[in-house]
Amino acid sequence: MSTAMQPTIQSNLADPLASVNEHVCVVRLTRQALYRTWDLGEGLAAPVRGRLARALRLTTEITLGRATPGHLTALAALVPQLAADGLDVADTLGRALRDFRDQWDAHIRRESCPEGRCLTLNAAPCHSTCPANIDIPSFMAYLGHGDHRAAIAVIRRDNPLPLVCGLVCPAPCESACMRADHDGSVFIRPMKARAAELCLEEGGYPHPELAAPTGQRIGIIGSGPAGLTAAYYLRLQGHEVEILEAQEHAGGMLRYGIPAYRLPSELLERELDQIRTLGISIQTGVKIDHLADFRAHYDAVFIAVGTQKSRFIPIDGGDQPWVLGGIDFLREVRSGEPVRVGPRVVVIGGGNVAVDVALTALRQGATDVAMVSLEQRDEMPASPHEIKAALAHNVQLYPGWGPLRIEAEGAAVFQYCARVKDELGRFAPSFDPERLLRLEANQVILAVGQGTDMAFLDGSDVETQRGFIVTDPDTLMTTVPGVFAGGDAQHGPRTAVEAIRSGKLAAAAIDAWLMQAELDSSRGQPQRRAEVVPLRVAAGKRAQQARAEMPEKPISAVLGDGNYTQIENGLTEHLAHDEASRCLRCDICIGCGLCVAACSEMGVEALRMATTTADRLVYLDFERPASLCIGCGACTQVCPTGAIRIEDQDGMRRTVITGTVVREQPLLRCSHCGVLTQTAAQRDFIRSRLPAHMALSLERELCPDCARALADRPLTGAHIAAVVEVA
Ligand code: SF4
Ligand code: SF4
Repeated sequence: MSTAMQPTIQSNLADPLASVNEHVCVVRLTRQALYRTWDLGEGLAAPVRGRLARALRLTTEITLGRATPGHLTALAALVPQLAADGLDVADTLGRALRDFRDQWDAHIRRESCPEGRCLTLNAAPCHSTCPANIDIPSFMAYLGHGDHRAAIAVIRRDNPLPLVCGLVCPAPCESACMRADHDGSVFIRPMKARAAELCLEEGGYPHPELAAPTGQRIGIIGSGPAGLTAAYYLRLQGHEVEILEAQEHAGGMLRYGIPAYRLPSELLERELDQIRTLGISIQTGVKIDHLADFRAHYDAVFIAVGTQKSRFIPIDGGDQPWVLGGIDFLREVRSGEPVRVGPRVVVIGGGNVAVDVALTALRQGATDVAMVSLEQRDEMPASPHEIKAALAHNVQLYPGWGPLRIEAEGAAVFQYCARVKDELGRFAPSFDPERLLRLEANQVILAVGQGTDMAFLDGSDVETQRGFIVTDPDTLMTTVPGVFAGGDAQHGPRTAVEAIRSGKLAAAAIDAWLMQAELDSSRGQPQRRAEVVPLRVAAGKRAQQARAEMPEKPISAVLGDGNYTQIENGLTEHLAHDEASRCLRCDICIGCGLCVAACSEMGVEALRMATTTADRLVYLDFERPASLCIGCGACTQVCPTGAIRIEDQDGMRRTVITGTVVREQPLLRCSHCGVLTQTAAQRDFIRSRLPAHMALSLERELCPDCARALADRPLTGAHIAAVVEVA
């Protein structure tokens, strides 16, 4: 194995094993090093590349827990060969095998990985990033197939409020989407709303069977997303559930904290009806004054009162009557109170609530709204689409300014904020007092935090800390047995979907406590809820298709005094189908790269995956195999999930990646028995790699059975003539 004429791959990276300790997975690091060398080694001679691909495949199989001790023997044998090939990675592989043998053995035995990252088939990134852990690829595939009821059933396994989330969720799942850096993340959020609206138009969601009655009664304080979610899952378990809500209407922050142009009351009400219909009572206008009295009526209690009060920061002049709290302002507006502001309003804050306040102010009399945040524009906590909405409404953004004082004459003064956090990432703003900004204002609205009215806990033993309820982190039980807490009142102000997660976790814990059962250790983890056949999507379309734009009403139609018309029109059937088609089905293709390694090991090189920032491989190039794949099926032999398949039908062989046909070619017929055998490309590929005398035997075009049976007979012209391509 001479290296004289071959390009060699020298690793420019620091030694991957240099700073390894017992918490670092050496097998994963070695696989990364092999992949990187393979990825950079397009120009290597075919035999070298084949050995590299083999080492990569073997190591990947070990990370997946699909290996035997023979894998280690084979890898050890490759070390001197790769070294002779001039590859630096041989040294990494050799040292890893020699110095960290325990780790390799533990992986082979499927026992443990020091980082806990190997030995599992990773969930789709969107699925694991969604705080509610909705099985996103499955529900979207159902919707793409036209089965919106099945889509809703999948969503509601993890989130009982698909319409609400489909309209207001900031969609952290989309930031994790594998298409994000390619042509834009899949537009997941409105897909839930589309499925929900289709079901509601038909009369309601499909509801799961309730478990047999348990005789246990649970009282829930608060009808926001955490309370509703806990109620739903507890009811499914057969418990009797009552929700008590202090406000006039149900919904908590969904009703009183989110403006109606995003979540109209009638839509929220329709979703609430889908909760009530299970026999969950929601009593509104009932304020709980003393927890102890309330507790006495139930077997367990869940506190989900949210953060319904604005927090004020100590600021010179902040006690003037025209300085308002953001959440207070939103609640008063949504309660129908005649709140008037403007014409000039300054909103202090850079989060989603600040945007809601700014856009609501424009509908309550303001004509000139400024939003001032400590954070620079790219650090603002508001979601990008919220900031886009603010700009579309002509809200003036002033990022990087901290409030200094509010002047009685009607102005807010800010000082420049050079930095919000210190080197350790702690909140420690540093200001430049010489650089000031003065904005005139009729009102200053502070959207810088929210708190909870905890007066009802007085006299109870429920512990609080910094204004939030303290719970056991696993069970969400407070310091009082049988009293649980979740949502914003427990974890602080967060998004609706995080409150939904909290409500779901609380339901599991309350059920286990009441039934004296063990707490499900898989709770809070992404669970596959269905196995949905991928959509058939053409390769070109799958490879490149821009994310849909949300159809919206023009600003002129939705902006104006008291105009709370819903801005979004929602995805059309066509757009929803397109988005479902864009999904790369990361639930099926887990991004292990075994197929690519197997194809490269064969010497075909038909497959390429892209490396994403999440250090996960993904198919984005669905067109390369069209000219290169020979249809041999080596990739399908190693794929652990069936993401890549060979389908033979009507005389054709199709190579299919998660529903997309990437190569279609005719099959040849056995010249002796007439069965379909292989593709011409596969035959030619094998022929090109066999010695001349053996290659000649391929002219007989025999299926494996006939080849064995006729092994002794000489090749005849009749056999060759009988080779036909099936049209
Ligand atoms: S491509 Fe589909 S499965 Fe993959 S992360 Fe995006 S939405 Fe999820
Ligand atoms: S079927 Fe195609 S993609 Fe799969 S290993 Fe063979 S040549 Fe490569």
